[in-house]
Amino acid sequence: MAPDILDSIRRTIRDVPDFPNPGILFKDITPVLASHELLSQAIDGMIENTGITEVDKVIGIDARGFIFGALIAERLGAGFVPVRKKGKLPWKTRGIDYALEYGKNSVEMHLDAIAPGETVLLADDLLATGGTAAAALHLIEEAGGKVLGSTFFIELGFLGGREKVSSAGPVHSLITY
Ligand code: AMP
Repeated sequence: MAPDILDSIRRTIRDVPDFPNPGILFKDITPVLASHELLSQAIDGMIENTGITEVDKVIGIDARGFIFGALIAERLGAGFVPVRKKGKLPWKTRGIDYALEYGKNSVEMHLDAIAPGETVLLADDLLATGGTAAAALHLIEEAGGKVLGSTFFIELGFLGGREKVSSAGPVHSLITY
């Protein structure tokens, strides 16, 4: 991706201090989403980073991962699969609990979302501690999906989340802090 476009995207991400909790610097991506040009370039960049041209399913994580995941799936001619917070999916699910910095969380995926042997790309808005992405990757592997890699719009590199997800496949991010 051209450095000036990457710069524009970086400058458009809004830092919101102390949201949703004191001490968190929240990366607000809505100004990027609001620009057709920047959103389109971001999706292209997130795909280009992976080198993937063909994949069966793109998995997006609740909730901002749905935006990136679905657009990437559409561009790659792949199906889209949501990994959702516990209790949101209507049919039979497999789920996993995982630790957050404080407390815990659970995510679920429909049992028939991925057929054994299907190739999968994971997409999310942001890689922080990596707990959420690692949980989603676990569900994909349990379903028999073949992980080709993970692609994130933003990576908070100082939190070291990459180490939790890299065993499942190559990890790519468009903007790193
Ligand atoms: P983690 O499991 O720690 O990697 O957290 C990942 C999820 O939390 C991502 O899907 C983000 O949506 C959200 N998240 C964590 N930290 C931030 C942050 N500083 N700004 C925006 N979103 C965040």
